[in-house]
Amino acid sequence: MTANTGQSPLAPGWLEVPADLNALHEPLWAGGVARNDAGELTIEGLTVSELQREYGTPLFVLSETDFRARARAFSDAFNDAFADICGGVDVYYAGKSFLCTSVVRWVEEEGLRLDTASGGELAVAARAGIPGADVALHGNNKSDGEIHRALDMQLGRIVVDSLDELERVAAIAANRGDTAKVMLRLTPGVHAHTHEFIATAHEDQKFGLSMAPDSTDQAGLSAAEEAVAAAIGHESIELLGLHCHIGSQIFEPDGFALAAEKLLDFLAAMQVKYSIVLPELDLGGGYGIAYTPVDTPRPAAEIAQAMAAVVRSKCAALGISAPRISIEPGRAIVGSTTFTLYEIGTLKTVRVDAPGSEAGGVGNDVTYPRRYVSVDGGMSDNPRPVLYDADYSAILASRSSDAAPQLSRVVGKHCESGDIVVRDVYLPEDVAAGDLLAVPGTGAYCWALSSNYNYLARPGVVAVSDGSARLIVRGETEEDLLNRDMGV
Ligand SMILES: *Cc1c(COP(=O)(O)O)cnc(C)c1O
Repeated sequence: MTANTGQSPLAPGWLEVPADLNALHEPLWAGGVARNDAGELTIEGLTVSELQREYGTPLFVLSETDFRARARAFSDAFNDAFADICGGVDVYYAGKSFLCTSVVRWVEEEGLRLDTASGGELAVAARAGIPGADVALHGNNKSDGEIHRALDMQLGRIVVDSLDELERVAAIAANRGDTAKVMLRLTPGVHAHTHEFIATAHEDQKFGLSMAPDSTDQAGLSAAEEAVAAAIGHESIELLGLHCHIGSQIFEPDGFALAAEKLLDFLAAMQVKYSIVLPELDLGGGYGIAYTPVDTPRPAAEIAQAMAAVVRSKCAALGISAPRISIEPGRAIVGSTTFTLYEIGTLKTVRVDAPGSEAGGVGNDVTYPRRYVSVDGGMSDNPRPVLYDADYSAILASRSSDAAPQLSRVVGKHCESGDIVVRDVYLPEDVAAGDLLAVPGTGAYCWALSSNYNYLARPGVVAVSDGSARLIVRGETEEDLLNRDMGV
């Protein structure tokens, strides 16, 4: 181990000691975030200490400017790449990543559409006033109530997940004298995660209709084909096309491309066999972002071009005109727009045996320090490290520091030893209680997954644009926490 660089033997191999602990690694941060001359972290000129004074901590600080820019950039990249193939793409922002009425309005104003996955998410969409035609509804277990709501709102598409659901949607729509616009979610047997993907014939998961031939079906049809045949048999269903979603936090285009090829093969076969046209193909979301300096997702334009090339050549080979393509990015739009601001409290340093050394081993008493830096939130505002072993990064935000780097673990205040916010990060040796810490990349699946564990109030979300900040979701109060307690 290279002690002279300050690298700790306890640190994971990928974690480098930053050359400058005060520097912001640009891909992790929203545009408009910088350190001012006094060394304090700012967003569009607002200091983190003024944000704390006004709104408290923990706090989600979201750049509306950056959100709109990313939404536009993503949409432009895909529209450019697919312009000559199908006249562009429809971009559905995956609302489950972070949803509130303000975000729905930004999405709409930037020309995107909205993906939802529950009646509650539909309620947010309705409150924001987005036209139903621009909204999609997902979910593997939609209730009848949710299906009615989708039809009430005249949604542009209901993404049907199973044969069972197809029949329910058809019956409910028929009863109402309605027509449901339907996409069928298929499982192409492609699973992608960050750097690689795997392809399997059979699917063992709750989502979607399998494309593998079913040996128990008399005609050997796949569930996907059964659904196509059933859908076109129902007058109350308008079958728009096919959908897939192959994973999340994906960096390389290969998995998307393979899924697109499989779905196009199937789409072409169905068009011939059933004499139909399926005008739409949705390739889902899952585009990755950087959470730490070693994450290097490809630019949207590169992914879009690679996917477009495959769709173009596959459609040509099949002799079909390309369906209208849609995509569903969530994380790639909102993830990097946000950092979480925490106040540091308790500090503690433990001595840890060298990795690989035997417990109680004789003659090996070399230990290394790991510092635990406790913050005023934790797994209740960011459960991703606990749920998925997700890595994050963090910096001292309220001031700069010239102190030496020290391997640290940022932990929350919950009664749970797994309550980790950032498993491994180098922070200046002199961080102290009362300092503010910022964790970037918390825009997606943090607030959305937040909880009241230990009766902590969920943090608010502040949006920054035009150099000023406003609450778009207020933080919970103690009264909120007690509101539903019936006291009987
Ligand atoms: C979660 C989800 C998305 C968005 O995924 P990201 O990784 O946030 O881009 C898109 N489509 C479907 C069907 C999803 O379940």
